[in-house]
Amino acid sequence: MAVVLILSFFIKDFSRKAPMRTAEKFVKTCPRYKIDVVFYPETKRITALQEVTIVNDKTDSFQELYFHLYPNAFKTSDTVPFPREEMNRAYPEGFAPGYINIKEVLVKSERADYEIEDTILKVSLKRPFKPKEKLTLTFEYDVQIPPSCGRFGHGKNTFNIANWYPILAVYDEKGWHTEPYYSVGDPFYSEVGLYQVNIKAPKQYTIAASGSLKEKVEQGDVVTWSFTTGLVRDFAWIASANFETVEANVENTKVTSYYMKGKGEYGQKALEFAKKAISCFNEYFGDYPYDDYSVVAADFYIGGMEYPNLVMIGDEFYGPGDFLEYVVVHETAHQWWYGLVGNNQIEEAWLDEALTEYSTLLYYEHYYGKRAGRSVYEKVILNPYRLYEISMTPGPTLRHLSDFKDWTDYSAAVYNRGAIMLKDLESRVGRGKLHEALKLYFKDNLYKNATGEDFIKALNHVTGVDWTDYIHNWLTATEALDTAA
Ligand SMILES: [Zn+2]
Repeated sequence: MAVVLILSFFIKDFSRKAPMRTAEKFVKTCPRYKIDVVFYPETKRITALQEVTIVNDKTDSFQELYFHLYPNAFKTSDTVPFPREEMNRAYPEGFAPGYINIKEVLVKSERADYEIEDTILKVSLKRPFKPKEKLTLTFEYDVQIPPSCGRFGHGKNTFNIANWYPILAVYDEKGWHTEPYYSVGDPFYSEVGLYQVNIKAPKQYTIAASGSLKEKVEQGDVVTWSFTTGLVRDFAWIASANFETVEANVENTKVTSYYMKGKGEYGQKALEFAKKAISCFNEYFGDYPYDDYSVVAADFYIGGMEYPNLVMIGDEFYGPGDFLEYVVVHETAHQWWYGLVGNNQIEEAWLDEALTEYSTLLYYEHYYGKRAGRSVYEKVILNPYRLYEISMTPGPTLRHLSDFKDWTDYSAAVYNRGAIMLKDLESRVGRGKLHEALKLYFKDNLYKNATGEDFIKALNHVTGVDWTDYIHNWLTATEALDTAA
C-alpha cells in the first residue's frame, strides 16, 4: 500500500515538470526505504524499524550488501568527524557518545548474518542476489543522538537527525564505496531512492524533513508525522520544540522557513532568499521537481548543510549581517548540485561545491546586478584565495577527501579555486554558453551521479571546443593561480 501511495504521488509530481522517462527509470529500480521511527527527546534516542527493498539493476550478482552506519563515527572523541581544535564548538556541553545499535537484520524475513566495522555494516546473503532480482531487508535499531552541533546531534534548540539510518552504499564500476566519515568535506555518496518515513514524537515537537508531509496524526501526547519523498539521495529531519514557521509558494514548490521563536524577521528573510534562489535556479538550470523545500534554522556551528528538500542553516546567522542570504542561497544551489545531480563528494568534491559557489554568484548578479555580483565574488572567493596563496602553498582542487589537510585547505582548493575556474571559464566561453552547458549537464544527469567528465562533455557539446585539458589543468595544477576572471 505504501508503495502504491508513493508511486501515485510521485507520478503526479513529475508528470508536470521533469523528463518523465528519466524519473520512470529510477522509480523502477531505485531502493525503497520505509522507516518507522519513535523519537525520545528526553533520552536523546530513536528506535526504528526499517525496510529496504532493493532491485539489483547491476550486471553482477552479490553475496553481500554494504550499508553506511554514519552515527558510529560519533562513538568516541577520537573518531568524531570534527577537527580537534573545534571540539569545544562541536560539543559545547562536553563530549558524550552517539551511535547506532543494530539489533537485528532480516533478509526476506529470515534472520541474516552481519558484521559491523566502524561505520560499515556488511550483510551476508544466504543465496546470491542476482541481476534483476528484488530483495527486502529489515533492520531493527536504535540510535543515540550525541550532544554535538553538527549534522547529527542536538543542541539547546534542535535535534539534527542527518546521516542517521543504514543507507545502502554505492556499488559502481569501482566496486562498493565504503568510505569512512571524514572530518573534512561532505563525505557522502549515494544513489537516489524513494522514502516513506513515519516519525512518532512528543506533540510539542515540530519536525522538518526531506520529502513532503503527507499526514499528521495526534494520539494523546504523541504525534505521528508521515513523510514521503520523490527521488532523493538521502533523508534528513530536524526536530525542535521552539520552531515557528512561515511558508510561501514559488512556482511549483512550497517553501517553508523554520526558525526559532522570536526571530521572525530573519525567518521571513530566509524564506525570501530561498524563494528567490529557487526561482533563479529554475530559470538557469532546470525546474526543481519537488513539491516542498524547507530552510531550517539549527544548532549547527559549521554554516549550512544540504540534504534533499531540506537545508540546515546555523541559527547564529538569523540576525543582522549578510551571511544569512549567502548561506541560504549556497545551500539552495546544492539542491541542484549534489541533490538532483549527484556526485561522489569524496573523490570529486569540487564538482558540486564549485558549481554551487558559481550558482550563488549567479544569484547575486541576477538580482543585484553585475557590480554587486563582482563584489561578492571578490569578497567571498577571489580575495580569500589570494590571501591563502600568500601564506600557504595551495594543493590541487581535485583530491580525495582524505588528502586535504584541514577545512582551510579544502575550502581554498575546492570552493574558492573551483569557483575561480568557473569564472575564468565563463570569461572564455561566454556567460550564455556556460549557462547552456549547465542546463545540458543538469538535464543529462538528473537523478544520476555525474563525474567531472560529464561536466566536460556538456561543455564541449555546447561550445564545440574541447575543454578537457583546460579543466584537468585547473583541477590538478599546484602552481600559483593565474586568472583573468
Ligand atoms: Zn556547499
